Amino acid sequence: MEEIKEATKKIEEKVKLKGKLVWDKYDESRAKEAFSFAEGYKGFLGDAKTEREAVGEILKSAQGVGFCAPSEGEGNNKRIYRLNKDKNIGLATLGERPIEEGLRIIVSHIDSPRLDLKQNPLYEELDMALLRTHYYGGIKKYQWVAQPLALHGVVVKENGEKVRIRIGEEEGEPVFTICDLLPHLSRKVQEEKKLKEAIEGEKLTILAGHLPYPDQGAKERVKLRILEFLHQHYGLVEEDFLSAELELVPASKARDVGFDRAFVASYGQDDRVCAYASLKAMEEVVAPPYTTVTIFMDKEEIGSEGNTGAKSRFLELFLTDILKAAGKDPGDTLVREILFNSKALSADVTAGIDPNYKDVHEAQNNAKIGYGVCLSKFTGAGGKYYSSDASAEYVGEIRELFNRKDITWQMGELGKVDEGGGGTVAKYLAVHGMDIIDCGTPLLGMHSPFEVASKGDIYETFRAYRVFFEGE
Ligand code: MN
Ligand code: MN
Repeated sequence: MEEIKEATKKIEEKVKLKGKLVWDKYDESRAKEAFSFAEGYKGFLGDAKTEREAVGEILKSAQGVGFCAPSEGEGNNKRIYRLNKDKNIGLATLGERPIEEGLRIIVSHIDSPRLDLKQNPLYEELDMALLRTHYYGGIKKYQWVAQPLALHGVVVKENGEKVRIRIGEEEGEPVFTICDLLPHLSRKVQEEKKLKEAIEGEKLTILAGHLPYPDQGAKERVKLRILEFLHQHYGLVEEDFLSAELELVPASKARDVGFDRAFVASYGQDDRVCAYASLKAMEEVVAPPYTTVTIFMDKEEIGSEGNTGAKSRFLELFLTDILKAAGKDPGDTLVREILFNSKALSADVTAGIDPNYKDVHEAQNNAKIGYGVCLSKFTGAGGKYYSSDASAEYVGEIRELFNRKDITWQMGELGKVDEGGGGTVAKYLAVHGMDIIDCGTPLLGMHSPFEVASKGDIYETFRAYRVFFEGE
């Protein structure tokens, strides 16, 4: 009887797929590393709440470990960066092997769903100043009312001067908010409606002031007083809003969650968790075998459009910088050849199975919180549409690497087959012919103002990116 049991155990261990909880694999010191990595990450989340701020933080951190603009390095710097309009940035470290053999690229995105001010936002109603917004990316609108919100962004004045605004993050600063309707009166206009219709986009207006301009003969006195305030403090006039990018984000800070502090919760973890993990991996791997590249994209949440999103030609341009730094002539053919020979991770988050909504998931093929970084062979919706489906060969290669380097990882797709779906930047890089697969942290409450991730999964994401760059 004992012998049969032993044999069963052996065969089970040999042939059955079994995920491992990251905490069961960690010894005390690895668990400590994971917790301490989360501390740096929480700081980044607080400092980099918008794509522009993320670029600033990434640049500062990279410069601190020796990354230079190509022009500063006098042609012999092995670590270079290129900025794209303050909203997109690339880092590269020259590798030991010939660059013709291809790059190792990790691409994440640094934009998150939010509320943008409309171009002509300010108005007055019932002696209150309000700001009209147009939401950016996939939000559930009800999550954005009755929340403290902070205002971040830039205003470009007629003379070209750029004014930076960041109000509502520091202790003692005022915040902004969208008032929700009281339950006593919301039965018909909200509660009898579908959830997605209960709060309309046009009703996401920001409460922004109340004091009237003292001259009782003036028109729109509260609005006038706000404009006077903006003029006194920032030198702005109302027309300056037309050439501004002002974004409202949750004013809350990243926090630990749970008695045991095992989770990080914050706005913007999609996709700053992968951005931060790839930045740290990039910084640590100083002498990689293949040339390593990290790209931090903007505009992923609205389809990777625009000149700072993944559909732009930024990567090709950055590659010409890299080739020059490597002492090569950056011809078009060589650029195409290198991109074709490259291997990449599309570093983006996925959904962890939510214990409250297990029904939208298919447990056998969806990511579990605490089971490590998640590879997704494909994304998309409605029959893998709009997906860059990684080849079995490439999945095999990454699987072998992660297993050999003791990375805790899992394979997962986003929800049940016909439940919904979503995409990433992977397909916009795949057009160059490179191998690419989605690889990122599972989240709970993705796209909410307070997304949750396990510190173990965050740390395994970083470790996975590091071994991808270290290669071999
Ligand atoms: Mn994302
Ligand atoms: Mn997203």
